[in-house]
Amino acid sequence: MTLWFVRGLRRGVVTTRYPARPDESARFLPAPPAFRPGALTLAVAGRLAETCPSGALHVVQEEDGGVLVFDVGRCTACGRCAAEAPQAVTSSGAFELAATDRSVLIKRITLRGEEQ
Ligand code: SF4
Repeated sequence: MTLWFVRGLRRGVVTTRYPARPDESARFLPAPPAFRPGALTLAVAGRLAETCPSGALHVVQEEDGGVLVFDVGRCTACGRCAAEAPQAVTSSGAFELAATDRSVLIKRITLRGEEQ
């Protein structure tokens, strides 16, 4: 313990400057997905919802098409959805997801028709 104290005094601050400055290592952290709406069909969205182990994704069918509902608050950033459909899903790179209102963590992505 004394050794670490002395070492800290000698070297100064050894932790990162986060959150005052972005941390370089943040780009290597797992992050929730971002979706490419142009590549999301009802079928692809259905596969994503089935793949998601935490229930963060589900499809709502509506009269004029469908919507992929993404609950970021349930996402564990496991990456299974991106592995399932890499053409439609990528990493958002965002991991600072604290919110004071739970509803802002729920995203609705309109699905394009199958024929497009
Ligand atoms: S990263 Fe994992 S938990 Fe998050 S939406 Fe994709 S499959 Fe679900």
